[in-house]
Amino acid sequence: MTLPTTTADAYFAPLLPWQTALWAQLTSRVLSSSNQLPHALLAAGMSGLGKRAFVWRLVAWLLCRQREQHVRGACGVCESCQWLKSGTHPNLAVLPHQLLPVEVAEDDTPLKSRDKKSKGNKANTEGAPPRIKVDDIRELQPFIYQGGQGLRICVLEHAETMTVAASNALLKTLEEPQAQVHFILISDHPAQILPTIKSRVQQLPLHRIETRLALDYVTNKLGSVVNHERVSQDEIAQLLTLAEGAPMAAIRLAQSPWYGKRALWLTTWQALREHRRSSTAASDYWQSQLDIDAFIQLSEVMLTEIQRMSLDLPPRQADISAQTLTDKPLPDMLAISDFADSLQRIKIARLQNVQDKFAYDALMQALSVL
Ligand SMILES: [Zn+2]
Repeated sequence: MTLPTTTADAYFAPLLPWQTALWAQLTSRVLSSSNQLPHALLAAGMSGLGKRAFVWRLVAWLLCRQREQHVRGACGVCESCQWLKSGTHPNLAVLPHQLLPVEVAEDDTPLKSRDKKSKGNKANTEGAPPRIKVDDIRELQPFIYQGGQGLRICVLEHAETMTVAASNALLKTLEEPQAQVHFILISDHPAQILPTIKSRVQQLPLHRIETRLALDYVTNKLGSVVNHERVSQDEIAQLLTLAEGAPMAAIRLAQSPWYGKRALWLTTWQALREHRRSSTAASDYWQSQLDIDAFIQLSEVMLTEIQRMSLDLPPRQADISAQTLTDKPLPDMLAISDFADSLQRIKIARLQNVQDKFAYDALMQALSVL
């Protein structure tokens, strides 16, 4: 299988604006007389911060033969950079095996699969990533202990998917640091990584993003226009708030099929709870508007908003909240939690391939009693 050309781009993409200080700090530590790069690093935090873009760029630079002359990023032409481009670098090991950095520079989403190396352990782009098993860590041992010249790097993607046995095997390895061997762990869910592992790795402060830089970046990337409509700074600020400050997540949000349908969701909800519309009619209508998974995402965001209003917290979606409510009182916490449960049940049913129509019907029914 020919790898997409974007594979190599992740190694050589421009540095994200909020990562320049960290980059300068790390690279100067490496270039100091005694390479003071920590033995094991963790790039953790929610999806959309640009963690992966940073990691793959750092990997390329660390391995680059000309890094002293190219402190802002790998040269792209030396033997090492060529190896990266062809996906065959002898000094780079990536777990899970079938994952390679693809399309991470623009988006901090999980990696895509590499069919060639998959061992019947199916990876797919939408579902859960494959778990890192103890055998995977054992297979790394010759690579780690081979000695010899040059830096070697192990990247563990989705580090939270390590089994307990795999974590323990890795822990042993981390406790016996080898010269010239560096580990970089990546995780969107660091809370699920064993604390013993976390205590052995140094976390990269990738989550500190200056608001101004994030605003500028998102404005620039959206080109000020989404769906032919101009996007104001207030709207971009709102996107960033909803994305918990993660710039790539804010961009994904703006481009999602449901973001522009939030007001419509409220209208449907009001019509349902005031019995002006039946849940079947609402279900039929929305089936023609959005696929059910998008509607579930939309409903989760709207539920959070309703919950905030019930708690008298300031709205996060100033653009739509004004028109939110009728005379009917806001749902209480019990109703909100019932609806959240229904959403969860429907999400699980979706994983078991329940039909769109059935899921939509159930969701509208739940919405009518929220
Ligand atoms: Zn190079």
